[in-house]
Amino acid sequence: MSTITELITYRSEEHPNLLWLEVNTKDGVTGLGETFFAAEAVEAYIHSNLAPMVLGLPAEDIELVHHKSRPYVGFVGAGMELRARSALDIALWDALGKSVNLPLSILLGGRIRHQIPVYNTCAGNRYVRGPKVGSTDNFGLDKPVKQEEFDDLNSFLNDPVSLAASLLEMGIDSMKIWPFDYAAEATQGQFIGPSELAKALKPFELIKKKYGNKMQLSAELHGMWNLPESLIICQALDEIGMRWIEDPVFLTNADGVRELKRAVRSRIALGETRGGADDFKIFLDTGALGLLILDLGWCGGLTEARRCAALAGAYQTPVAAHDCNGPVVLTASVHFCQSTKNAYVQEIVRAFYYGWYDEIVTQLPPIKEGKITVPEGPGLGLELLDDFKKRKSTFSRKSNKIG
Ligand SMILES: [Mg+2]
Repeated sequence: MSTITELITYRSEEHPNLLWLEVNTKDGVTGLGETFFAAEAVEAYIHSNLAPMVLGLPAEDIELVHHKSRPYVGFVGAGMELRARSALDIALWDALGKSVNLPLSILLGGRIRHQIPVYNTCAGNRYVRGPKVGSTDNFGLDKPVKQEEFDDLNSFLNDPVSLAASLLEMGIDSMKIWPFDYAAEATQGQFIGPSELAKALKPFELIKKKYGNKMQLSAELHGMWNLPESLIICQALDEIGMRWIEDPVFLTNADGVRELKRAVRSRIALGETRGGADDFKIFLDTGALGLLILDLGWCGGLTEARRCAALAGAYQTPVAAHDCNGPVVLTASVHFCQSTKNAYVQEIVRAFYYGWYDEIVTQLPPIKEGKITVPEGPGLGLELLDDFKKRKSTFSRKSNKIG
């Protein structure tokens, strides 16, 4: 039995919303985790609160650590506390895999599939890199784009047919875009006029007209709309034909989602910002969900993601793994999809994957012809690059250590 002896966190100037966590064990094994958004606050929480709770606990008893790291009071849902625990949980699973020389998907019960189809979230290379989370200010469109970078957000707004063509060329036949966000911001999500609606529908219509069923389209509404406006948008999207519509309303109103689904044909997807299994249950109870989306860096790590998937399975509901953050959560997600029967699809952001993910870690989960699998090796199959840890832009390295 080995104990948790050290937690080390890293933040980078280049990616200020990401936080990486290394856990070291008494046996000299290192595991890697990651989470996203409010990285500086999560870093502070890890060193001031989480480390004192978990240093000295047995590293293999991940369920115990998951339980013991749950705060006593003053906490619910997907806040900073759960993000910190998520990063730690992923790191402990990685360390366990490395200590017994087995890939994570085997430890999670073994593989039901070796690869899973991906869909592309059409963000650009610099999407959500700034501090203004969840607003069009953070679309990253004001920065110059290098020739070799995928500029998918700009493309879905201005040249959606070429964007779809370029994805199909790579073997990717499913894509998600969010052209309604500008209209939502302009009216605080209270009103969408006919011309704004028509403008936001245009990219979907153009792609559908050109490629028909060859490209599956999903719409992301980011929980920005009130219920009646969301209904107008969803019904208009129904006419075009969506694979799914994501976060049609803010994730506090389960009855609203039920109400919406009565009048909408498209599959409704939600979940990634909500929390763990207990938080999802009220939405699953509505019977309105066609897809539950999990972010392993937000829901409580692999331990909680398995619980969420089992719960969703009992409602005959598939799960999809979120990626619009970093390479470690993506890789953990692919292990999760390999070993989870009701995994439906894996999100990727090709602008991140081919843009900068490989500047952070030693290996990435390979993507071929629209499908993704795990990298070779025990645990996650990757580590932080030594060079990344020493890079000047990796400006914050903090450690809590015992023994
Ligand atoms: Mg989403």
